[in-house]
Amino acid sequence: MSVVRRDGFLPFAQPTIFESDVEAVADVVRSGWLTSGPRIQKFESEFAGEVGAGAALAVNSGTAAMHVALTALSLPPGSSVITSPMTFCSTAHVIEHVGCRPLFVDVEPDTLNIDPEGIRRALEDDRHLVSAIMPVHYAGHPAELEPILALAQAHGVPVVEDAAHAFGASYRGTPIGRVGAGGHDPVARAVAFSLYATKNITSGEGGMLTGPESLVETARLWSLHGLDRSSWRRYGPKGSWQYEVLAPGFKYNMSDILAALGHSQLGRWRWMQQRRTDIAAQYTRALADVDEVDTPQPRPHVVPAWHLYPIRLRLDALSVDRAEFIEELRERNIGTSVHFVPVHIQPYYQQRYGFAPDDFPVTMTEFDRLISLPLYPRMTDVDIDDVVAAIRDTVAAHRRVR
Ligand SMILES: *Cc1c(COP(=O)(O)O)cnc(C)c1O
Repeated sequence: MSVVRRDGFLPFAQPTIFESDVEAVADVVRSGWLTSGPRIQKFESEFAGEVGAGAALAVNSGTAAMHVALTALSLPPGSSVITSPMTFCSTAHVIEHVGCRPLFVDVEPDTLNIDPEGIRRALEDDRHLVSAIMPVHYAGHPAELEPILALAQAHGVPVVEDAAHAFGASYRGTPIGRVGAGGHDPVARAVAFSLYATKNITSGEGGMLTGPESLVETARLWSLHGLDRSSWRRYGPKGSWQYEVLAPGFKYNMSDILAALGHSQLGRWRWMQQRRTDIAAQYTRALADVDEVDTPQPRPHVVPAWHLYPIRLRLDALSVDRAEFIEELRERNIGTSVHFVPVHIQPYYQQRYGFAPDDFPVTMTEFDRLISLPLYPRMTDVDIDDVVAAIRDTVAAHRRVR
């Protein structure tokens, strides 16, 4: 049987690199300032300005941003941090790094974001000492921040958002990351973005933490050996050979080379965001009449960042499973991925905490039928049509006859 196969493989993800990005990076290398310097300050202040945050800290990964945020909060060792099992493993890893335990709460079936009712139950369960909440804005669709922040306030626990997917998203009119800008935040709160190569804007590798200035400055201390702020500028014109170490900090600073790339990308984020939004809309329209595939349905009060476009197969209507479906798409030259293998079934977490797959039934049921389609600004309309044609062809070949 012949299949509809496009010419040339369409990768699942590709960065959007312009010649101006290349020049920005080359300029820094030529300048001779290779580590953290003036471009970091510029990138941080413009990033904070874009999202409307009180302060921003550039680090070398989104994981590092989460880690220094949790470290700056001085959580009691052995306490529990609430998060979602439908995330990348590093959300849970940083909880372990600060000597705490991940307390997974199942997700809501439509958005695959952590369920606020589950958070309430976990907070009210006195078997756990909960010290923080880490919602993940899955696929760039904001988690339900209003009830989550209300619960955090009622229980006096801080919130660190994993916004790796959510740069450019907003919730009830407020950009994700707008924290600590004037006024008083009712709960301690910080937001961690990833600037990894596949993310909506990238510095190659990198991360950004936004929040109120005091929290961000404590995180900054931890992000560079625990050096106080005046000493980490020691190579500048007003620098001196003296430095003071105030904490056993990490080595998480971003280099000016990467900041130049991130800053250059930031300058055109609205255009890239619009292109992602348009591609998502095209997918949704083109797949509307394919009954075997459920498309993402954003809630009305959010603007998603569309980092991912995760479809879900109606497995009862198909004679193949998700893995076979992905193979069929690959045969048709379409690259896809799965976000995520739930963290609680990863061997380390499964063995350490004794989880059963069904402990988080929504996460497991939806994981079994998830596929992330290619979605990035450089995709052409022909690429989008090819993805849709491959899905239609695969569905037609494996429709279960009832
Ligand atoms: C990419 C990602 C991270 C980690 O970001 P890095 O910059 O690679 O450290 C964390 N959480 C989620 C949900 C991610 O997708």
